[in-house]
Amino acid sequence: MVLATNLGFPRIGANRELKKAVEAYWKGKSSQQELLATGKELRTRNWKLQQKAGIDHIPSNDFSFYDQVLDMIATLGLVPERYKWSGGNVDLDTYFAMARGRQQGGVDVTAMEMTKWFDTNYHYIVPEFEKGMKPKLSSTKIFDQFEEAKALGITTRLVLVGPCTFAFLAKNKGDGIDQHKLWDGIVGVYEEILKKLSAQGAEWVQIDEPMLVLDLGEQARTGLKQCYARLAKAAPGLKILVATYFEGLRDNMQTAFSLPVAGVHIDCSNRAPHQYKDAVSIIPEGMVLSLGLVDGRNIWKNNIHQSVEIAEFVESHIGKDRVMIAPSCSLLHTPVDLAHEDALDPAIKKWMAYATQKLDEIALIKKGAEKGRAAIQKEIEASDDVQEDRRTSKRIHSDAVKKRVAAITPDMKKRKSPFAQRQKIQRAALKLPAFPTTSIGSFPQTQEIRKARADFKAGTIDKAAYNTAMEKEIRHVVKYQEDIGIDVFVHGEPERNDMVEYFGEQLSGFTFSKNGWVQSYGSRCVKPPIIFGDVSRPEPMTVEWSKYAQSQTKKVMKGMLTGPITILQWSFVRDDQPRSDTSRQIALAIRDEVADLEKAGIKIIQIDEAAIREGLPLRKEDWKQYLKNAVEDFRITSCCVADTTQIHTHMCYSEFNDIIGAIGDMDADVISIETSRSHMELLDAFVEYKYPNEIGPGVYDIHSPRVPGTDEMVALLETAAKVIDPDLLWVNPDCGLKTRGWAEVEPALKNMVEAAQIMRRKAKSAAA
Ligand code: GLN
Ligand code: ZN
Repeated sequence: MVLATNLGFPRIGANRELKKAVEAYWKGKSSQQELLATGKELRTRNWKLQQKAGIDHIPSNDFSFYDQVLDMIATLGLVPERYKWSGGNVDLDTYFAMARGRQQGGVDVTAMEMTKWFDTNYHYIVPEFEKGMKPKLSSTKIFDQFEEAKALGITTRLVLVGPCTFAFLAKNKGDGIDQHKLWDGIVGVYEEILKKLSAQGAEWVQIDEPMLVLDLGEQARTGLKQCYARLAKAAPGLKILVATYFEGLRDNMQTAFSLPVAGVHIDCSNRAPHQYKDAVSIIPEGMVLSLGLVDGRNIWKNNIHQSVEIAEFVESHIGKDRVMIAPSCSLLHTPVDLAHEDALDPAIKKWMAYATQKLDEIALIKKGAEKGRAAIQKEIEASDDVQEDRRTSKRIHSDAVKKRVAAITPDMKKRKSPFAQRQKIQRAALKLPAFPTTSIGSFPQTQEIRKARADFKAGTIDKAAYNTAMEKEIRHVVKYQEDIGIDVFVHGEPERNDMVEYFGEQLSGFTFSKNGWVQSYGSRCVKPPIIFGDVSRPEPMTVEWSKYAQSQTKKVMKGMLTGPITILQWSFVRDDQPRSDTSRQIALAIRDEVADLEKAGIKIIQIDEAAIREGLPLRKEDWKQYLKNAVEDFRITSCCVADTTQIHTHMCYSEFNDIIGAIGDMDADVISIETSRSHMELLDAFVEYKYPNEIGPGVYDIHSPRVPGTDEMVALLETAAKVIDPDLLWVNPDCGLKTRGWAEVEPALKNMVEAAQIMRRKAKSAAA
C-alpha cells in the first residue's frame, strides 16, 4: 500500500500560540506548567489534524520550544561549560539559557550561536563541541512525546536530527577535543534512543540527514556509512527512514541508497524535479522510497496530476508497497492554515496552500497513486484548472513586463564609464572630504514613528497627518546629521516598517497575507511577502520622501532602495518560472526607481543587497550561475545613471572570501559592509583580492547597545587602512540604526564623525 506521510508540521500554532506562550514564560508572566500545557495542546491539535487528513505516518518530536537542533543538543547532553549545568536531565531554564543567554542574579552568560538552516530563513542553534564533553542521554522529551501521541492512539514516526548532520553543523570551541571519542559517544546515544523507541513500540523513525544534499568528501561519506551500520544494528526491528531535502542528492545518491536503512526520502520539488528517475534505478531491493512531491517551502497548490504521474512511474518500477507520498521537507517552513486568511484576493488565494492544505494534497496524491487516477478524477480536474488559471491569468502575466525583460541590452548592464573615471567625476561633483562619513539608512524607529505608521494603516489618521509626522521625523534626522557634521545624509527611513515589505507593497505582482507566519528562530516569526506575478513598478516609491529630505539641507542626501536579490530572497516566490526570471523583473522595477531618484536631483543612491550571500546555492557547482545572475541584476538596477551619480550598496556580513570577485563585479561606486564585531579580521578577503572601488567597513556595531569610543573606531579604521587604500575608505556604522535608541545613536555617531576627523588630520600630517 502507498502511504501518506509527513516530515514535520509547524509548531508555532495557527495564531502563533507558541510564540505568545514562550514569551510570556520568559517575561515571568506565566508558569512552566502553563507553558508545558500549551505545548501539549499544540502537539495534540497537530497530531489530530494530521490524523483527520489521512496521514499514515504522522511525525512526533517535530515540536520544540525553541529549535529542533537545540533539542538534540539537550538530548545528547552537550551543554557547554559556561551554562554550569549540573548534569541529569537538561531543565527548561538551562535550555532557554543556551538559546538566549542568561543575565540574572549575577550570572551573565552569552547565548549559543545561531545560523540559517541550510538555505532557509529558519535559524538553528549551532552545536558547540568542547574538550571533555561526554555525550549522555539527558532528556526524556523524545520518549515522552512518543508516549503522549500513543496515548491518543497514534503511533507516530519520531523525527530526529540525524547524527551526521548534527556533527557536521557543530563547531569546535577550543583545543584538545577528542573528536573520535565525542563522535563515538554521540552515535552511542542515538543507538540508545533507537533501542528505547523500539521498546516503546515504534515502527518507523525518521532521521533527517540534509547534509546529504551538500558537497561532501569521501570522509563524510564513509562516516555516514559507518554510522548507519551501527544504528541499523542497534534496533533491528525498527525501520529507519533517512530524510534528505532542500536539493537533489546528485553525487551522494549512491551513498544515500547504500545505507542499511528501510527507506530514503528525496526532495522532488522544483529544486530536484528529476531525481526520482535516478533513484528508482539505483534503489536496492526492498527499500522504500519517500517522494517529496508537495513543496514544503512554498505556498502554492500542488500540481496533483503531475504528482500522481510521478508516483505511478515510481510504482511501476518498485511496486506500490514501497512508495511513500510526502512533502519535500518538513512543513515547518510554510504558514499553518490558509483558512485563517480572510483578506487575501480570492483569485490568488485559490492558487495557494499552507501546511494544513498540504496535508490534504498528500492524502489525495496517495489516493491517486493507490487507487489509480480515476479515483480522484474530479480533484485532478480541479487541480488542472488551477494550473491553467495560473498559466493564463492576466493577474500573473504582463506582456509589457515580459517584453521589457526580453529587450534588455548589454549596455543596460554597464555604467557609462569605468570606475576610475566615474570616481574623478564624482569627486569633483560631490566635493566630499577624505574618509567621508555616512550611515546605512535607517535611524531609530521610535514609538511615535511606529504609531503614526500603524494609525495610517488602520485609517485612524489621514495621508496629510501621516505625511506631517514623517516629515517632522525627517527634519529631525536631517538636523541631527547637520549638527554632528555627517558628510552624506540619509532621510532615516521612518516610513518603512521593513526593507522588503515597503517595496513589495508598492510593486505589482506582490501580495501580503495577514496570518502567513513562519518561524524564523525561537519565538520569532516572519510573514514573507508573496510574489505571485510579473513584477513592475506602477509609480515612484521613495522619490517624494528623498526629495523632501534633500530640500531640507544643502548636504547631499542619499536615496535608499532594496535590491532585487534581497527582495526575492525574503519573499515566497513563484514556482512557475525560475527564481532568476523573477529577480530580473524586480531589477527592472527598481531600475525605474533609480532613474526617477536621479531625475529628482538625488546624487547618491544606495541599493541594499543584504541577502546576496545567503542566497548562494547549496552546491558550489551552482554558484557561478547564481552569482552571474545576481551581479547582472544589480547592474541592471543601477547602471541607468550618469557618471556623476554615485551608486552605493550595503551588505550585512563580511564573510566575503568566496564571493568577493562577484561583489567587485557589481561595480557599485561604494560598498558598506559589516566588520566591526570581528575587529576587521574579516577583511582578510581584501588582502588577496584588491577590491577596486570605494568601501566603508562598518566601525560601529549596531547590534549592540554599546556606544563605541572615538579611539576604538580610529583603531578599526587604521586596521582597515592596512589592507584597503585609505583613499578609498568611508566611515559608517555596520548596518541600519532602526533597532537602536537615540540615546545610544547620538553619542555613537558623534564619536564616529570625530574618528573620521582624526583620520583626516593624521593623513594630512603624514603627507606633510
Ligand atoms: N537601509 C537599511 C537600513 O538602514 C539596511 C538594513 C539592512 O541592511 N538589513 O535599515
Ligand atoms: Zn545591514
